[in-house]
Amino acid sequence: MGALELENGGVIVPCCFDDDEEEVEEYGSGSQGSVEEAVEVLLRGLGEDIRREGIKKTPFRVAKAFRDGTKGYKQSVDDIVQGALFPESGLNSAKGHAGGSGGLVVVRDINLFSYCESCLLPFRLVCHVGYVPSGQRVVGLSKLARVADVFSKRLQSPQRLAHEICSALQTSINPGGVAVVLQCWHIQMVSDGESIKSSQNWSSVHVRSTSGTFDVQKSDLLEDFLTLLKFQGMRSSSSNHTNGRVIKPWCPMLSSTLSLSPCTAPPMIRAVTSIIRSIGENPNRNELVGTPLRFVQWLMQFKKSSLGINLNGMITNQNDKCFDLEPVLDMFSELNIPFCAQCEHHLLPFHGVVHIGYYRSKIQDAAIGIGCYDRRLMNLIVQFYGCKLQVQERLTRQIAETVFGIYNKGVMVVVEADHVCMISRGVEKLGSNTATVATLGLFLVDSDAKSKFLKNVVECK
Ligand SMILES: [Zn+2]
Ligand SMILES: [Zn+2]
Repeated sequence: MGALELENGGVIVPCCFDDDEEEVEEYGSGSQGSVEEAVEVLLRGLGEDIRREGIKKTPFRVAKAFRDGTKGYKQSVDDIVQGALFPESGLNSAKGHAGGSGGLVVVRDINLFSYCESCLLPFRLVCHVGYVPSGQRVVGLSKLARVADVFSKRLQSPQRLAHEICSALQTSINPGGVAVVLQCWHIQMVSDGESIKSSQNWSSVHVRSTSGTFDVQKSDLLEDFLTLLKFQGMRSSSSNHTNGRVIKPWCPMLSSTLSLSPCTAPPMIRAVTSIIRSIGENPNRNELVGTPLRFVQWLMQFKKSSLGINLNGMITNQNDKCFDLEPVLDMFSELNIPFCAQCEHHLLPFHGVVHIGYYRSKIQDAAIGIGCYDRRLMNLIVQFYGCKLQVQERLTRQIAETVFGIYNKGVMVVVEADHVCMISRGVEKLGSNTATVATLGLFLVDSDAKSKFLKNVVECK
């Protein structure tokens, strides 16, 4: 699948697509093959037809992304650091600290991603490393980022990741001391017991780990290091700022209370356990024991449903003839309706908000009494199409078509979303946001209404 070409020569780039999709090396072989089979079990558990066009290649994509994203298990820090230690004379200690001895060296803003060990979703992080050279030798600066990357490409929690980077650098370089600060962002989902609602915010945590001279009580080094991070624009987060331990679980799935049907779950849980084993992790490690269950619980929120939308009698007489005779129309907007859908290409969530603009006539209101239900109705439509395996373009169109089917005058829908699959696909895409638009009926000809709606969308931020 690539970009779609339009008749007029334009190109539609899908909201979420995999640049590496054409690569088929190792397809079906070794651990990649077993992860693919496990993903097929998960898709079937969701009630999907695994031969369907949109998801045919999903097992391959998921396995490839997961294999690339956990390659740190196969990498060794010594291989990276060896050969990258260079002699560098430092200041005489009577004069001060700098160069190859005692001076602070900082590498800031290393953009990385890792996998949450509690739920297997990727999270993004920015890593800052400081170290104090000793013994008249320094390490090539790029190696600090490489070492951080090795540990981030494993199943992690923020604090564990900070500790592992710190102690690996301390052991391999043997400097005066090491300090690591991580800022991490995890998708935020609010569970109400029956369903997961997305929150536009990301759950964030800010952790650090220090060794050697950074731990010395009277040393100013840690303060200097943190000050240099602030110059770079790092705000210290007041909530969940931890100094060695996380106060509340940072992974939202750790506090979720979702129920699971006992008949579908066991094969899916076994499949997830086999995925964890295939990357070289021990599924019995304490932190990982509940992970397959949490992953499946979260996934089952997006189970295919054969039920239509139950509009609960909110719409009646919608074919009433008087609509066509009624020229007095007003444009209404329902803004910021949250949703969390599951990208069917990568089996990872995309979440954000939907804005709906539509025409409604006053007589229509009186005849069918919709007015007071609008927000609830729009929310129901968004949740119905949002809570399943989806692509953003289709979600946008389906919402627009459904709303048009109710009010049948004109509809404009804007969906703004963050794709978690983007996190694991390259630094330049970190934190990027995607918007899709569908326009139907009167909005196509009424440019005033269109700009008024878009203005509402911009102003509601
Ligand atoms: Zn998590
Ligand atoms: Zn995707």
